[in-house]
This record gives sequence, structure tokens and C-alpha cells, in this order.
Amino acid sequence: MLNVLELLFPKCCLGCGKKLLQRESLLCTQCRHEMPLACFHRTGDPSLKNRFYGRFPLENATALTYFSKKGITQELLHNLKYRGHQELSHFFGKWLGAELAQLPEYQNVEMVIPVPLHRKRLLKRGYNQVSGFGKELAVSLGIPFREDILVKELAASTQVFKKRVNRFNDQNNFSLRYPDAISKRHLLLVDDITTTGATLEQCALALLKAPEVKLSIATIAVA
Ligand SMILES: [Zn+2]
Repeated sequence: MLNVLELLFPKCCLGCGKKLLQRESLLCTQCRHEMPLACFHRTGDPSLKNRFYGRFPLENATALTYFSKKGITQELLHNLKYRGHQELSHFFGKWLGAELAQLPEYQNVEMVIPVPLHRKRLLKRGYNQVSGFGKELAVSLGIPFREDILVKELAASTQVFKKRVNRFNDQNNFSLRYPDAISKRHLLLVDDITTTGATLEQCALALLKAPEVKLSIATIAVA
């Protein structure tokens, strides 16, 4: 039965904006079917993993969906990042988690670590858009989720100094905390979207400072 609030403010699909039916949540049935799924873990397509070839060692890489300008994934990520719809992060995490839990290559993953936001950005947005995704993946795989391992530093304050000391080295804005907690472990690094992979690479290089770490990557979308 509809309550008064639902009559006054009917829930709308976060993909297309159409009014949702009572049995639907977040996304209408049509949008769910029209999601441009990538799912490299299912197809075996190595193109995402190959993007990181020669940059750092990687076990597996997958993404749930393709991103295209003005496509449904863009709308969903926009709702997730800028309109407070954190629940989408959980939705994507449950979806991908249920799939990865079936696959042998993800059975030996031991911890999920999200790409962190800088403290100021986190305060402004109120949440890290990838946390829900990471938490649900961790639940599906039965492993811990750790948000305290990677920290994003403020780039500007150290930029001049770093340029002087080491101008041929790309600066890394991410630093590693608690290296002992991740050494000898297989980590699943998660983010909302893979584009050039530069952010994931910086995070990976920070994590790989701990001894004998193995890495896999999962993102909500891939552009
Ligand atoms: Zn829709």
C-alpha cells in the first residue's frame, strides 16, 4: 500500500527519471536491462587488465558497466556523486559482489580497499562514493573492508618541494598507512570509474610499498 509520502513524492528511476513501480527500487526494469554491462570477469576480455600492463603487476581487473557520455551510467554516477544517492554505490557492489563470489580467481582476495577522497572533499560530499561499493564487495567475498590503509594527501602544499627534490618522478598523492596489515595479502582496490587509470596506478604503487602484496582491481564503470 502506498503511504502519503510516496503519493506526494513518488520514487523515480535514478537512470531515466521515470516513476518507479512499487516492486522496483532505484532503477526501473528497462534501465536495468539497458545497462551497458562490461563484466570482464565473465567475458574474459583482457582489455581492462591490459591498460595497466607495464605499470604495475595486476592479478585481475574488472568493471561492472561501460561509461559513455549522456549514457545511463553517466546519469547513475552523477546521481551517486553529486546528488547524494549513496545507495547506488551499495547497489553496484551487491550486483558485482554476487558475481565475483562465484569465480575462483576472486576467492583468494583477502581485503577490499577503496580509492580514498581527500579529507576536505570527504567533508564536502559527506561520503566517499565508492565506499558502499567496496563494503558490499567485501561482504559478498567474506573479507574485510579497510578505509584507513590509503590516505589522499593534499597535493598543493608539497608540490613545489617535491618538484625540486625529484622532478623526474611523478608525484604520488596517496600514502600508505599500516603496511603490516596488508603485507603478503591479495588486495582488491576499488574505485567508481577507470578512465586513464592514473589514480588507480598511484594507489597501486602506494600499496605495493608493502612487501609481497598482490593486487586486483574492480570499478563500477570503465570509460
Ligand atoms: Zn529507468
